[in-house]
Amino acid sequence: MQPTTEILLIKYGEIALRGGNRRFYEDMLLRFIRKSINAISPEQFSAYKEQGRFVVQGVDGQSPAHLIPHICRIFGISSVCLGIRLANRTMEDIMNASLDYFKAHNPNGTTFRVTTKRADKKFPGKSDQISAQIGSHLFNSILNLQVKLANPDFNLIVEIRNSVYIYSQNVEVAGPSGLPPASAGKGVLLLSGGIDSPVAGYLAAKRGIDITAIYFHSPPYTSERAKEKVIDLAQHLAAFTGKIKLIVVNFTDIQLHLTEKTPPEKITIMLKRSMLKIADLAAQNEKALALITGDAVGQVASQTLHSLHSMTGATSLPILRPLATYDKKDIVSIAEKIETYPISIRPFDDCCTLFLPKHPETKPKLSIIQSIESRIENLEEMHQTALDTAEIYNF
Ligand code: ATP
Ligand code: MG
Repeated sequence: MQPTTEILLIKYGEIALRGGNRRFYEDMLLRFIRKSINAISPEQFSAYKEQGRFVVQGVDGQSPAHLIPHICRIFGISSVCLGIRLANRTMEDIMNASLDYFKAHNPNGTTFRVTTKRADKKFPGKSDQISAQIGSHLFNSILNLQVKLANPDFNLIVEIRNSVYIYSQNVEVAGPSGLPPASAGKGVLLLSGGIDSPVAGYLAAKRGIDITAIYFHSPPYTSERAKEKVIDLAQHLAAFTGKIKLIVVNFTDIQLHLTEKTPPEKITIMLKRSMLKIADLAAQNEKALALITGDAVGQVASQTLHSLHSMTGATSLPILRPLATYDKKDIVSIAEKIETYPISIRPFDDCCTLFLPKHPETKPKLSIIQSIESRIENLEEMHQTALDTAEIYNF
């Protein structure tokens, strides 16, 4: 072991609470971390579980600092902290390493404290005494430092185990929390090129749902560039989820057929029911357990509570609507944070907007919708054909 090594200390939030399933979630998360770091720096870093957290270190002692932005995107992780590990446990080594770490991460000097966690009780001295000794070394070596035990600007943590770990919560980078990627089973995300559905997909994936996306386009009424937008969105989401399958369904025939057979104010509802029905067929193929949409109650006519109610029976699967209660501005701020926003606002329409009626119904009645739908011939066959002839992309 190198005498001093920079390491990453990775905390995971909720899975620590998961009783009997804890091992399963930990192993899954660890596999995902290994996969991610191997994709960036093949075979240069190792990751392992230690003391209820994960540690990443270079196989030849190299710094893993550049991995932080990638690791802190992984669902299930609550924080990543650059720290150091000391193989030599002499007080002199600990004091010198603490000073180096402090200078590197808090160069301007402010109020501080040292917190010692003496897990190895055989290590001589009491925790408070060790903290005081390290603290005075820092105080004597750096100008204008002030000790402050409650709410200091910088809390240097020294953890004494078989090795000594030096780190600080002040250096921690927050992760997204949630549950490990693909730990919850599969869901089919109805992904349009809009702002909402990529955010809904992100939030669903954050709860461990393995996403298969489905997009309905209507060439030539929707452009190739609208499709590219959705491809880019799916690819972008794959950076969070590890992988995504995208099913691109040609919806033109169904859209024209429904438009011909439906009163204009009800067309949006009918189109969305057909999308859900095709997504349901896709879910059966994929062994998915839920559908996911970007609906937010009351955002537009097709998303009033009446409109959402009129989707009843289009699928027997649960429909997850992660954004159901969100305001648009809150959705936009997540879209900005996860960087789907610039892709979503590219000015190419998805299929519903083109066929949007002037006066869409805001209080459709389920029984009327169902009765119109039941009189449309060949709809089920058309749904199956549309899915059977879909294009598949894997990211
Ligand atoms: P978004 O911003 O996600 O496009 P929206 O505000 O435009 O949503 P709607 O057009 O009513 O609202 O769509 C509601 C949801 O229906 C979308 O979030 C998405 O899940 C699904 N959806 C709509 N159009 C499509 C499409 N062409 N392909 C796949 N899913 C779609
Ligand atoms: Mg849309």
